[in-house]
Amino acid sequence: MNLQDLAAHVAEQFQNHYGRPARWIVAAPGRVNFIGEHTDYNDGFVLPMAIERYAVMAADTASVPGAISVYDTQFKESAKIDISQPVTKGQPKWSNYLRGVIAGFQQRALAVPALDVAMISTVPLGGGLSSSAALEVCTATLLEAATGKALDPVEKALLAQKAEHEFAGVPCGIMDQFISALGREGHLLLLDCRTRKTELVPMSDPSVALLIVNTNVKHELGSGEYAKRRAECESAARALGVASLRDATPEQLAAHQGKMDGVAYRRARHVIGEIERTVHAAEGLRASNWIGAGQLMYASHASLRDDYEVSCKELDAVVEIAGDIGLAGGVYGCRMTGGGFGGCAVALVKADQVVAITERIASLYHVKTGLEATIFSSRPATGASILRG
Ligand code: ADP
Ligand code: MG
Repeated sequence: MNLQDLAAHVAEQFQNHYGRPARWIVAAPGRVNFIGEHTDYNDGFVLPMAIERYAVMAADTASVPGAISVYDTQFKESAKIDISQPVTKGQPKWSNYLRGVIAGFQQRALAVPALDVAMISTVPLGGGLSSSAALEVCTATLLEAATGKALDPVEKALLAQKAEHEFAGVPCGIMDQFISALGREGHLLLLDCRTRKTELVPMSDPSVALLIVNTNVKHELGSGEYAKRRAECESAARALGVASLRDATPEQLAAHQGKMDGVAYRRARHVIGEIERTVHAAEGLRASNWIGAGQLMYASHASLRDDYEVSCKELDAVVEIAGDIGLAGGVYGCRMTGGGFGGCAVALVKADQVVAITERIASLYHVKTGLEATIFSSRPATGASILRG
């Protein structure tokens, strides 16, 4: 469903549930990271794209003060959030993404009004496409509309990130909330995780699109291995005598190879190379050099698989299939995206061959793994927006 249809749908749901029309409609997208994996906690660059999948909320001021009532139209479940005092964690679990954002507004002494809200999301939940950030940024956008006070977009993203840290208990980086809040149609966002500086990277040529392939597997070792990688990066930075791997050059790494543990060396080689690839990929997209950007995606995947060791056989299968389809079949490049050990792969493809590519990946993935992949394409979508209000 496109954003306009989705807005109309949630407005209708609001009307049905509350018996009056909605005054505000707001939306915020999920995202996929084009390149720049495991670089965020090393002060490096990431290059996410907002996808055409959104959390959308329709709302009106409530007749009874003191609470925000939220109706989740998908799960047919309601939450009532007491706003007469500082908002705390509560039930149902998903309401914490909203609670954290409301608390952030309260802490800024912005007078949060009582609201009735209906919400829906087309971002797959828990699929690595950041349905959580979409929900947080959507909530923040609703509160901007309802209070009439627009936050600085960076402050808004940081407020949403804090909600995820403190109310959902997920110590995420800044990427997801930044792209959901700051994304612009037809653009990716090059984000410097050290300085928080952002740069829109145009990809407005309609002949290319991203294909998002969910392997539909999530291997358990994920979170433990993630903590291990972070520690390995810190130890590699110490060995190289730099504050973080962002500050290390390939030459420095080569000079230290003999003095470093083999694992630390390979982890550092991934991060240092990936930061460089991310900057080059942004240049490639800006120059409409799809082949060059695609090659960087394959190189990123190989590095994540061999040096960083966070891929898995299902992700490798998708990338291999994409490579076999190749340029002749309309695929420029492909890589795993997200933390790894399952989740999604992303491919840069020719837009007019999306249907054929989707069919081939789906059937070959099934042959190779016995599993079903979930696949959809997206052009760079708009970031958070107020659609009515
Ligand atoms: P991801 O952000 O990659 O989708 P997370 O585990 O961070 O995965 O967030 C998924 C969680 O976000 C879900 O388990 C659910 O609690 C919550 N969530 C997101 N969108 C919705 C929604 N529309 N309705 C209910 N819960 C949602
Ligand atoms: Mg999330």
